[in-house]
Amino acid sequence: MVVLGAGPAGLGVALLLARRGHAVTVLERAPAPGGLAASFEVAGVRVDHGSHRLHPSCPPEILDVLRAELGDDLQLRRRHGRIRLAGRWVTFPPRPADLARRLPPRVSAHLAVDAATSPFRTAQRDTFADVVRAGLGPTMLREFYGPYVQKIWGLPPDQLSGELARRRVGARTPGALLRRVLDRKERARRGVFWYPRHGFGQIPEALANAATRAGAEIVCDAEVTRLDLGDDGVRVQACDTTIDADHVWSTVPLPLIARLADAPGDVLDAAARLEHRALTLLYLVFDVAFVSDFDASYFPGLEVCASRVSEPKRYRDGRGSDPDDRTVLCAEIPCAVGDDVWTAAPDALASRLVTELRAQDLAVPSPIAVDVRRVAHAYPTYRVGYETHLQTVESWVLAQPRIVSLGRQGLFAHDNTHHTLATAWAAADALAADGRLDPERWAAARERFATHVVED
Ligand SMILES: Cc1cc2nc3c(=O)[nH]c(=O)nc-3n(C[C@H](O)[C@H](O)[C@H](O)COP(=O)(O)OP(=O)(O)OC[C@H]3O[C@@H](n4cnc5c(N)ncnc54)[C@H](O)[C@@H]3O)c2cc1C
Repeated sequence: MVVLGAGPAGLGVALLLARRGHAVTVLERAPAPGGLAASFEVAGVRVDHGSHRLHPSCPPEILDVLRAELGDDLQLRRRHGRIRLAGRWVTFPPRPADLARRLPPRVSAHLAVDAATSPFRTAQRDTFADVVRAGLGPTMLREFYGPYVQKIWGLPPDQLSGELARRRVGARTPGALLRRVLDRKERARRGVFWYPRHGFGQIPEALANAATRAGAEIVCDAEVTRLDLGDDGVRVQACDTTIDADHVWSTVPLPLIARLADAPGDVLDAAARLEHRALTLLYLVFDVAFVSDFDASYFPGLEVCASRVSEPKRYRDGRGSDPDDRTVLCAEIPCAVGDDVWTAAPDALASRLVTELRAQDLAVPSPIAVDVRRVAHAYPTYRVGYETHLQTVESWVLAQPRIVSLGRQGLFAHDNTHHTLATAWAAADALAADGRLDPERWAAARERFATHVVED
């Protein structure tokens, strides 16, 4: 078995296949495993690729494996975030008293009207704008979701598919939103998260260690460049290595798998139309113990180029391992590959960001150093009409008996880590005794994946 990509999905499926006695090789393009969930050091502080938390809704069978591997290093932490709404800071996830106190009366009044008129609204088209306007109402679209998706995807909300709202907006009616905010149990559940002592990347590192112990081989710096599909197997080409595999489990971006396997022209055309939004991650280093009391600050508005700024040291109790005299802020700046943000000099981008943050009442000192990481495939873009192209590529992949495409990238999904791991668990479970994937079990699993809703 060959697994493409050593992010959480690739490592998860490699672990399960190896534990079931299969010979598994994982090929990873990067110098280390982890994918988007990896951690690395900036100025001696372990940081992530943007804010990462393991949400408590992680399926128990997956959490059990992670807890067994990480032991006490996997800490249950209380969330302490805030969001900038209508020029004010509001606790995030929201609390009723705080919302009542901090939201401008004008916004609260409009929200109340939207809630009262909700039964009379229906979506005219299946766009993000129409689905949110009909469900939560025009105020939530105008004040929060509209600018937020415009910032992340660089497109107005009426050019994004309604599916994006179904995948990313947890509470889609005022009633559901109110229940979420008022229900104590729900608030308690959403108020905590799991996080490892040495950064989120300890999760894929633990999966990689467990997979290796179970017999899997993980090869890094091994970019897969070609797949030759035959009746008896798949020949996998990666840099200077060629492997003949019975089956390929791919977690690389879905459009790439079509190109690697030289799919028919119509499939390649459709693959070329599946777009991704990129992310520039800016790491600002400060010579103080902490910059903020908050783990993350969310900026849905367009006044700040970052969608979120987080302080990794606040995500964990890193006493004994984190430095006392330094901290790092990580800013997530959505962009397109090759645009002004993507190509900006790190110092210039940092100076712009610090100015914008200070204008929003976030007291940031001057950084003593700046680092940058760029991620080309950060978010799949659900532009109106993307479904047709996705279906063309997916139908072709599903017709290949020896390739399974899974994980966030392989399913062109917005999945959290626990979702992407669930796809790995389901893929391994769909493996029949003859070593082939049971199409019915996999189809049933894919229907479940379509109900995943992202947690922020
Ligand atoms: C900004 C941001 C914040 C997030 N926050 C959270 C959060 O708080 N909580 C949460 O649960 N999830 C969060 N996520 C989602 C989480 O990062 C993903 O769900 C998870 O990393 C997906 O794992 P994956 O294995 O499916 O894909 P990836 O992690 O993307 O792994 C795919 C791997 O394939 C490799 N690859 C690509 N091409 C090739 C090739 N040709 N040959 C070999 N290897 C290749 C890549 O290098 C990569 O390692 C966040 C994501 C982003 C972008």
